[in-house]
Amino acid sequence: MNAELSAGRTDKSTQQRNLELSGRRSDSWYADWGNLLLLALVAYIVLYAGWLLLEWGGETTATLVAEIGYLPVLALGALFATRAAFISRSDRGNRQAWTLIGAGFFFWGFADGLWAYFVLVAGTAPFPSIADLFYVSATLLFFAGVVRFPAVAISVPEWTRYLLDSAIILVGVLALVSYLIIGPEHLREASFPVEVALLLLYPFIDALLIIAVFTMLVRRPQTGSIGVLLLFGAGLLFIAAANLLWSFQESRDAYTFGGWDYILWLIGYGLLVASPQRHCDVVRRGVTSTLPGEFVTRVRGLIPYVGAAVAFAVLLILAAPSLVDDLGLVLIILLVLAGLVLARQVVTLRENADLGVRRAIERSEARFQALVEHSSDLITVVDRNRNCRFQSPSSLEITGFSAGDLIDTDLADWCHPDDRQQLIDALDRVASEAADRARVEWRMHRPEDGITHLETIVSSELENPGVNGLVLNSRDVSERKVLEDELTHLAYHDSLTNLPNRAMFLNKLMRSLRHVEPGRGIGILFLDIDRFKRINDTYGHDTGDQVLLDVAAHIRSALRPEDTVGRIAGDEFTMLLPGLRHEYEAMEIASRVLSKFDTSVPAGVSWTLTVSIGVAFTETPDDDPARLIRSADAAMYAAKRTGRAKAVLFKKGMESEMAANSAMTDSEHHLR
Ligand code: GH3
Ligand code: MG
Repeated sequence: MNAELSAGRTDKSTQQRNLELSGRRSDSWYADWGNLLLLALVAYIVLYAGWLLLEWGGETTATLVAEIGYLPVLALGALFATRAAFISRSDRGNRQAWTLIGAGFFFWGFADGLWAYFVLVAGTAPFPSIADLFYVSATLLFFAGVVRFPAVAISVPEWTRYLLDSAIILVGVLALVSYLIIGPEHLREASFPVEVALLLLYPFIDALLIIAVFTMLVRRPQTGSIGVLLLFGAGLLFIAAANLLWSFQESRDAYTFGGWDYILWLIGYGLLVASPQRHCDVVRRGVTSTLPGEFVTRVRGLIPYVGAAVAFAVLLILAAPSLVDDLGLVLIILLVLAGLVLARQVVTLRENADLGVRRAIERSEARFQALVEHSSDLITVVDRNRNCRFQSPSSLEITGFSAGDLIDTDLADWCHPDDRQQLIDALDRVASEAADRARVEWRMHRPEDGITHLETIVSSELENPGVNGLVLNSRDVSERKVLEDELTHLAYHDSLTNLPNRAMFLNKLMRSLRHVEPGRGIGILFLDIDRFKRINDTYGHDTGDQVLLDVAAHIRSALRPEDTVGRIAGDEFTMLLPGLRHEYEAMEIASRVLSKFDTSVPAGVSWTLTVSIGVAFTETPDDDPARLIRSADAAMYAAKRTGRAKAVLFKKGMESEMAANSAMTDSEHHLR
C-alpha cells in the first residue's frame, strides 16, 4: 500500500520535475526527443527488413547488415531504459526495473556484437559460445526487471498458483520446442546431460520470456500505463517466436543468416526499446492506467488448458504415423478421455464458482438471520395494508406477544387509539414514498393489561422482492417514557400538594382563554391564607405543611369538576373557573370557598383558619393570563387590607394601589 502510494506520489513529482527540465508544458508527442528517436527506429526497422528480404547490395552486404543491424537498436534500448530509470529515480521499483532492463539491453547488445564477430570475422558460429552466456544473462536481467516493477502485492495462495501456472508454461514450451521444433531424434542423439541442456537452453530462455510476460499480467504493475506493459510483453513474445524459429532451423541444419527470424528479432527489440520510452512519455504526461483484474483472471484461467492442449497436440502429431495400430487406438481413446475430463473440469469449475456464490449468499442470509433473531430491537414487516408478515423473536419480551401472535393481524389494532392515526400516517408516508423513513412513538396494548411504549423507525423494502413490505424497527421506550412523564409532572406540579404549579396553571389559563365562548367568561380566584406564619411559628413547619394540604382539600371540595386549582407560591392558591356567565358567579364560588373554612379547624391547630380571596373575571378571548392573575392578586391584597377573611372583586385602580403600598412597605423596610 505504502509502495503504491509512494509510487503514485513519485510519478507526479517526477512529472513536475520533468516539465521543469524540459522547460515547456507541451503534451504533443514530438515535444520529446525520445519519441522522435522512436520514429526513426520504426523507419530503421522497415529499412532493415527491406534490406534483408530484398538482399540489397548482394548477399554479403545483407549478411553484414543483418548481423550488425541490431547493435544501434539495442544501444537505443539501453539509452531509453537508462533514461526511464533516471526519471523514476525516486520511485524505487521502477528505477530498479529499468536499470535491470537497461543492463539486459547492454548484455544483449554485447552478445550480438560477439555473435557478429564470430560470423563475420571468425567465419564460424560456435555453439555454445561466450555469446550464449550473455544471451542467457540478458534474458535473466529482463526477467528480473519485469519482476521488479512496482506491482499489486499478491497473497501466498496466489503465489502458489503463480508458480504452478509458470511451471505449466515452462513444461508446455519445453515440450513443444523439444518435440516439434528440435525433434525427438536430436534429443535422443544428444549425449546426456550437457548436450541436452544446451539444446534446451534456448527453449528454456523462450519459456522464461513467456513466463515474464505472464508475470507482468499477474502482478499488474501499479504505475506507468498498460501501454508500457503491452509493448514490453509483445517485444518478449516476438523474441521468443524468433528464438523458436531459429531453434527450428538450427536443429534441422536449415539455418540461413538474415532470415525471417532476424526480422522478428528486430521487431521484438523495437517493441522492447519502445517500452521504456513510453514509460518516460507517460511520466512526462502523468497518465497512469492499470490492467483490469477481470481480464487477467480470464487469461490465467486459460493457461492450464492451453498447456494441456499443447501437450496433446504434440502427442497427436508425433503419434500420427502409428495411429492405425493397436497402441494408436488406445492413444486415441486416451486422448478422447482426456478431452472429456478436461471438459468436465471446466464444467466443475463453473459449478464451483456458482457454489461459491451460493455459499456466500447462504452465509450472508444466516448472518442476517442471526442478527435479526438476536437483536434486542423488534423487527416487524408489514404489507401495504399494515398486515403483519414478520415479527422477530424479541417480540415476546418487548410486547408480550409471541412472534406468531401478530402474524396476519392489522398492526393498528394493537395500537392505543390516541396514537393510531400517527402510526397509520407514518406507514402511509413511507409506503407512498412521501418519505424515505418515518419515526413514530406509539403505545401498544399488551396481551394482559398494560402498555408498551415503542419508538419505531419505518422504512420501505416494498421494492425488495426478498422482503416486499415495510420494515419497522422498534425499541421499547417504556422506561424512558415513565421517567419523562415523572419529570414532566415534577416540572408542572407542586411537590407538596401535587397541585399544578405556577407554570402549569398559567398554561391551563392560556388554553382556557383561547377557547372563551361568547357570553361566557373565566373567573380567577387568588387565595392567600391569613396569618399563616403564626401556624408555622406556633406548631412548626410540618403542621404548616399539613394545613396547606387541608386548605388544598377544602378549596377542591368547594369547586366544580371543571375548575382547576393550583398552588403558585407558599400559602397562595389560584383557581381557574371556566364557563361563567358573570363575575358574580365567580364571587359566589369564592364565598363557597370561604365558607369551607368557617367551621373547620385544621388538625393539630387550636384556632379556625381564614383566607383572603381576590376575584378577577374576563370575557375577552386571548386575554393576558399574567395580567389576570395580577388583577386577582391585587383584589386579594385589597381583601387583606380591609380586614381579611373575605373575597374582593377586582376593580380598576387596585393594582396601582397594591404597587404603591408595596413600594411604601419596601422603603419602610429599607429605612428600618
Ligand atoms: P398574611 O395574612 O399577610 O398573608 O400573613 P401570613 O403570615 O400568611 O404572611 P404571608 O402570606 O406573607 O406568609 C406566607 C408564609 O408561608 C411564609 C412562609 O413561612 C410560609 N410558607 C411558605 N411556603 C411554605 C411551605 O411549603 N410550608 C410551610 N409550612 N410554610 C410555608
Ligand atoms: Mg398569607
